Amino acid sequence: MASTSVSLCCVGTGDAFGSGGRLNSCFHLHSTAGQMLIDCGCSSLIGMQRCGVIPAEIDTVVISHLHGDHFGGIPYLLLEGKYASQRTRPLTLIGPPGLQQRVEAAADALYPGMVDKKFNFPIKYLALDPKQPLQINSLQVECFRVKHGSSKHAYGLRVGVAGKIIGYTGDTEWTDNLIPLAQGSDLLIAECFAYDDPVPSHLDYRTLLKQRSRLGCRKLVLTHMGPEMLARLDQLELDTVTDGDTIKL
Ligand SMILES: [Zn+2]
Repeated sequence: MASTSVSLCCVGTGDAFGSGGRLNSCFHLHSTAGQMLIDCGCSSLIGMQRCGVIPAEIDTVVISHLHGDHFGGIPYLLLEGKYASQRTRPLTLIGPPGLQQRVEAAADALYPGMVDKKFNFPIKYLALDPKQPLQINSLQVECFRVKHGSSKHAYGLRVGVAGKIIGYTGDTEWTDNLIPLAQGSDLLIAECFAYDDPVPSHLDYRTLLKQRSRLGCRKLVLTHMGPEMLARLDQLELDTVTDGDTIKL
């Protein structure tokens, strides 16, 4: 496949606790295949406005797991589309089974009645399934089961777009599923909440450093860092990203 350029904007690179003043997880991919978000945490609309990403132009959102700092921005994206931009562009929302119910329950709690009134744009929900990669026009989305607390449906993602492959761990402690997820990718975005003490449900820096060569990705960047990691940003061998960073692939 011919390779064209894909531009990635790190809209939100923080954890669930607002560590370092960083916004919740959200990554924007722009290519000839359209515009998509990988995760859309609560603060994503604010992040998009800061980065100059136009919310009404997002075609697809892919969600790794149903925690608020990863999907809680969708009600705001819908709100913006309905009342501010009055978007007409169709929106495809992809995520673990149950995404639609969770989005609609959150939207109804935050803005009662919003989901009952019609939207001016078509919204299509698609479920992630590790056995069945999704193909939406020229976009491919593959998911891998990861280990994140009691979440039955927590996934790492492997997205193919415009000849590039981007891996994203979502939230997870180490699992060998991250190897096929990352293998041969142009970029792996890995959460790295902890530094040297493996914590349940999350990755840590020492483990990623040890596993780096097995991952087989061209480039690796760390995100979703907690206070221990943020305190050591100037001592790390692996690259990190912060809110507003852009990467050309
Ligand atoms: Zn989580």
